Amino acid sequence: MKLLTNWLALTARLPRQHKLALASLSLLVGAALMWQPSPFAPSKERQPAPVANERQHPAASEHSEPIEQGLDADDPALRVPEDALEQDITSEAPRVHQHTVAAGDTLGEIFSQYGLPMSQLYQILEVNDNAGDIRRGQKMEWQVDGQGHLLTFTAYQSIKYRDHYQFNQGQVDYQRLETKGKFEKVTLIGRVNSSFYQQARQAGLTPNQIQNLVSALQWRFDFGRQSHRGDQFAVQVNREFIDNKPVSSGKVTAMLYKAGGRDIFVYRHHDGRFYDEQGQSLDRALRRYPTAKRYRISSSFNPHRKHPITGRISPHNGTDFATPIGTSVLAAGEGVVVKARHHRLAGNYVVIKHGREYSTRYLHLNRILVKPGDHVSMGQRIGLSGNTGRSTGPHLHFELLKYGHPVNAMKVPLPEAHPVPTDERGSFQRQAKRAHQALAQRLNG
Ligand SMILES: [Zn+2]
Repeated sequence: MKLLTNWLALTARLPRQHKLALASLSLLVGAALMWQPSPFAPSKERQPAPVANERQHPAASEHSEPIEQGLDADDPALRVPEDALEQDITSEAPRVHQHTVAAGDTLGEIFSQYGLPMSQLYQILEVNDNAGDIRRGQKMEWQVDGQGHLLTFTAYQSIKYRDHYQFNQGQVDYQRLETKGKFEKVTLIGRVNSSFYQQARQAGLTPNQIQNLVSALQWRFDFGRQSHRGDQFAVQVNREFIDNKPVSSGKVTAMLYKAGGRDIFVYRHHDGRFYDEQGQSLDRALRRYPTAKRYRISSSFNPHRKHPITGRISPHNGTDFATPIGTSVLAAGEGVVVKARHHRLAGNYVVIKHGREYSTRYLHLNRILVKPGDHVSMGQRIGLSGNTGRSTGPHLHFELLKYGHPVNAMKVPLPEAHPVPTDERGSFQRQAKRAHQALAQRLNG
């Protein structure tokens, strides 16, 4: 910023005539003047022959007019008369001037080269700290009044966003404006070769979109294990277009995944969630209690529990239920048994993985009724409670882990499994069916 200020101060001292002369130059000549060979990125475009400019002759005052006899640019005697077309163009609204930022341009340079008032540049920098960050290729637009003062100044950040400054009676009003485009459905298709992730990226999905799909489908399909070479997918994305150019990666609205002979289809409802074609939730709820009856909690989840004698912090990562030996222990949700064995401290124990996010542990069991790899459904009996391992009495120690971290199963919000509301289900199913057919056609066609 200090550098910029110094530089601005320097250019502000340039002879006034230079600025005035420059101000009256047409856009084309102005653009030619601003061309400079860039030391960083040599341009492959056709390059106009460099024209001598004020930077190459910083001390040109010995071949200039005397400073005290500055010409008045508004002197009618010096003005190019406007023809009828010019008058028509400028009678309704001030002419819009445009500049495309070239390599090495600074905002101060642009203001100086077009003879725009430095005081207004300072006003812009005051209301927007980032106004000075400009880059090659960026478009600028402005309008000036009869005195050469800015009426408006616009810096296009992208097709979608632009910074707009409106000058009025010495004040500036700054707004970031947004262009609203047209939303169109785009279908991206692919065939799994190396991995679903790779092919989805190649088809044009963003890492974020892939992550959302994998997570939404976590209970229905495991992309990590069940996806194989030759599987096909079609994804419908709602993308925003401005001037026929996509301005965002868009929202995934539907996906059809063909895994061998199996079709997995999901459709996004207007509540933002994915459902299957019938409008059923893709989530599987988890139960808070792994038993048919409620038992007294003998020790609660407590990550800060202190040992009564040593005073050391020894977290209690689960909830203890005072279950009599032989009580049926039920799977908290649908999942896969990943561990079922004995441990010195935990006794006989079972670990179940529920999708990608959740897992549950059941400790001190008297008997284990499942083995690793078993698919279990919610409420299925997986063991009988006991008093094995390090335990001070018969109880069931139950843990819920979210992304591998123990959480309080009695308190945390659990995934819900509500379907599309009844009164919306008919129209949802019709839309989902149409999308499913359209995607299937793309894969077969
Ligand atoms: Zn416990």
